[in-house]
Amino acid sequence: EAKALDARTQGSLATYRRANQVLAGGVASSYQARDPWPIYLERGAGPKVWDVDGNEMWDFHNGFGSMVQGHAHPAIGAAINARYASGTHFAAPTEDAITVAAELQRRWGLPKWRYVNSGSEATMDAIRIARGLTGRDTVVKIFGSYHGHHDTVMVSIGIEYDQIGDHENLASLSYGAGIPQATVDMTIAVPFNDAGAMERRIERLIAEDRKPACVIMEAAMMNLGVVLPEDGYLQAVRDLCTRHGIVLIFDEVKTGICIAAGGATEKWGVKPDLVTLAKALGGGLPVGAIGGTEEVMSVVEDGSVYQVGTYNGNPLGMAATRASLLEVMTPDAYAHLDRLNERILAGCTAVIERYGLPGYAVGVGSKGCVTFSPTKVIGYETFKANQDAAMADLAWLFNMNRGIFMTPGREEEWTLSVAHTTEAVDRYVEVFEELAVELTA
Ligand code: PMP
Repeated sequence: EAKALDARTQGSLATYRRANQVLAGGVASSYQARDPWPIYLERGAGPKVWDVDGNEMWDFHNGFGSMVQGHAHPAIGAAINARYASGTHFAAPTEDAITVAAELQRRWGLPKWRYVNSGSEATMDAIRIARGLTGRDTVVKIFGSYHGHHDTVMVSIGIEYDQIGDHENLASLSYGAGIPQATVDMTIAVPFNDAGAMERRIERLIAEDRKPACVIMEAAMMNLGVVLPEDGYLQAVRDLCTRHGIVLIFDEVKTGICIAAGGATEKWGVKPDLVTLAKALGGGLPVGAIGGTEEVMSVVEDGSVYQVGTYNGNPLGMAATRASLLEVMTPDAYAHLDRLNERILAGCTAVIERYGLPGYAVGVGSKGCVTFSPTKVIGYETFKANQDAAMADLAWLFNMNRGIFMTPGREEEWTLSVAHTTEAVDRYVEVFEELAVELTA
């Protein structure tokens, strides 16, 4: 399969050779890199993308889950064009910034909002707000979870399994070089789906005079495929944070907009103090947002915490976001995504059962995946211990060679878009069945 993909992507290879002369590693972001070379895209329309070799693919990658609206949606295009004609940037607020905040307030039930330009900025500012409010430094995150590329959260992500050992006593680990050890040490990771472990760790931190400012987490983990919260887990975390006066941040950069109108907050009915959004929020433009309670956002309103940025609330991004939220991501759109996701999950589950594959299909809203693990993954440790990485790699190559564009990682999930149809998801299942046939032949 690797050879076949190489043969199909010779144009990407030629592009890579040119790109490599001017772009570090030939890519704009390290997450776009891939061995032996990246796939360079040229165009997207609705549920499909085309690479520079002219390969037409159903897009299940969707820009790491940013394009839940589908590519080149006419309503978003019209909003961008209209805005362009009357100026794209002032660094002064516009009407759309108010309209979007009102819609986010309605969806999340959180009263006060601010904008940023990416998920990383959203989590960076949210953590600063929590620290500013509480006057504390320590941050609690989930073992193995990703919240962007700023120093505080580039901690205890991709840990090798043999490094994990006794996770309750594992030191915080830097994710890549260039992060000050003092910053790494301020971030403490605890396992997902284990409120007891979080409680023990928080009590220990309090005893050490290091009471956390916040817990930052995804309500459903979206970087181990999809890992859903076990019953009662989110409420237990909520109660724990309330009891100790710790700010609870739901990082909904991936789940927000994509899994329900009001994201994971709506889906599981547990309300955080702060929520972070990005990716799909901007309908293809770089827009992020932070929403919070009156109490938490008061430190922004009184000016004690600086929440700033030249491009925050950029009119072009706000116009695209307004059109996306009000015209594209309607109740009908969410119903469509739920129906399609049920269909693809049921299709994959049927294949798994028919061919006796060691794995399961899991998903929510527009997101899902087949997890190649004989047992259920509930967090980073069970993922690392049980995921068949070779199978995940093979499935990716197999998909790519059959016109299914997916994220080139073992940790990602599919994101359906409103432009996807039963034809798209049925093709996915058909290719998955072909893989099953070959594996069991
Ligand atoms: N939080 C989560 C949950 C994410 O998945 C990501 C990106 N994968 C980020 C934050 C960072 O977002 P960005 O890449 O836009 O900075």
